[in-house]
This record gives sequence, C-alpha cells and structure tokens, in this order.
Amino acid sequence: MGVESYNGTVHCVTVPNGTLYVRRNGHPVFSGNSPFEHNAFRWHIRTPVFVAREWFRHRIGSFNEESARYHTLEGDFYVPSRAAVRTQVGKPGSYSFEPTEDAVATETIATFERIYDGLYREYQSLIEKGVAKELARALLPFGVYTQFYWSLNARSLMNFLSLRNSPNAQYEIRTYAEAVERLFAAQMPATHECFVEFGRRVP
Ligand SMILES: Cc1cc2nc3c(=O)[nH]c(=O)nc-3n(C[C@H](O)[C@H](O)[C@H](O)COP(=O)(O)OP(=O)(O)OC[C@H]3O[C@@H](n4cnc5c(N)ncnc54)[C@H](O)[C@@H]3O)c2cc1C
Repeated sequence: MGVESYNGTVHCVTVPNGTLYVRRNGHPVFSGNSPFEHNAFRWHIRTPVFVAREWFRHRIGSFNEESARYHTLEGDFYVPSRAAVRTQVGKPGSYSFEPTEDAVATETIATFERIYDGLYREYQSLIEKGVAKELARALLPFGVYTQFYWSLNARSLMNFLSLRNSPNAQYEIRTYAEAVERLFAAQMPATHECFVEFGRRVP
C-alpha cells in the first residue's frame, strides 16, 4: 500500500486493492463509509429458531424466511454437542460459560431429544387431523430449524460480525458468525484485513 501526501478534495478515488484509508488527526481511518455499501451478499441460512431470532435483530439487512403457515416443518431440531452443554457462572454483566459435568451433559442431550420427539409427533398428529399448520406450529420449541435468505452489504455485514463473532455473543450464533466471516474474508480479503486490523470497528 502506498502513502501519498495530499491537501484538497478527493472525488471518486480508485485504488488498486479497492480499499482506501486516510490519516485524519493522526489516526488511520476508513475514508468515508459508503464504499462498503456498493456490494451485495446473499446468504441461505439454516438455523434453529432461537438463533434466527437473534439474527433478525440486525435490521440493516433483508430477510425472507420459510413459511411455517403453509409448509409442514421438517422434524429437525438443535441438539447441543456434549461440549456445548454449559453452565452459566458469575453475575449479570460478567457471566462466563463453563462445561457441565459429563452426567449432566448426557442427561441434557437426552432431555432435548425426548421432548423434541414428543412435540414433533403431536405437531404431525394435529396436522393429520386437519388443524392448520399456522396453528400447529405453536407447539414447536425454539430449537426447531428454520431457514431464510439474508441480503446485505459489506458495511452492514461488518456490523453483524463485530457483534456476533464476538466473545459476548451466544455460542450458537457465534459459530454461524465465524462461518460467515470466513466467507466474507474470502470474498473481500483487503476489506476484511482492515476490519480486523482496526479492531473490528464498523466503518
Ligand atoms: C451480545 C448481545 C446481547 C444482546 N442482548 C439483547 C437483549 O438482551 N435484549 C434485546 O432486546 N436485544 C439484545 N441484543 C440485540 C441488540 O440490542 C441489537 O438489536 C442487535 O445486536 C442488532 O444490532 P444493531 O442495532 O447494531 O444492528 P442493525 O439493526 O443491523 O443496525 C445497524 C446500525 O444501524 C443503525 N440503526 C438501525 N436502526 C436504527 C434506529 N432505529 N435508530 C437509529 N439507528 C439505527 C445503528 O447505528 C445500528 O448499529 C443483543 C445483542 C448482542 C450482540
């Protein structure tokens, strides 16, 4: 990356790697924000509903979710791995999450599977009796899988990554955010490198 001294107005600048940084008040910063809005990512995401619910809070993005009013949901449910069964330690504002004892992990996984199985059978049974899918779905828990399309630009994506690929984010959405970030880095390596280098701050 080259360094040029210049005093004056810059219009529609183009640089070889597609990312422009300038020094303002002695600090290197992204030059403006809008360059990161001239691109589009579209993702097809499949997650449990409790992850989708966190994801949909990111308003700078467009979503279309599969309909559970008109379509019978497949019986796919999130069962945590043993390593993901955790306990919450600490107090509000400074929680940490530690693995549970093995016996608790085993029991937790068995409980998830047993309850999911029962609820899904009741869901199917209501639909077979003619109850509308839009009503029968109310039986299903947060752990049922949904899927959606998600479209947004790189600036909004960096906002999502700064919040959700972060130690503060819940493990399950963080796992997705890590995968999203790997794909983002592959598509826009120079922008991603700067995002990381400058503290994962959103331009
Ligand atoms: C670790 C963590 C814990 C959370 N816990 C909770 C919780 O307990 N309860 C809860 O309700 N939510 C919770 N959230 C969700 C959080 O409050 C945000 O809704 C979510 O992270 C989306 O962030 P955002 O608003 O920056 O994103 P977007 O909605 O995508 O917005 C992007 C940016 O656009 C601007 N913007 C968007 N809408 C407006 C607006 N209406 N007015 C002004 N500026 C706007 C802001 O600059 C914003 O940062 C949590 C999020 C995280 C990461």
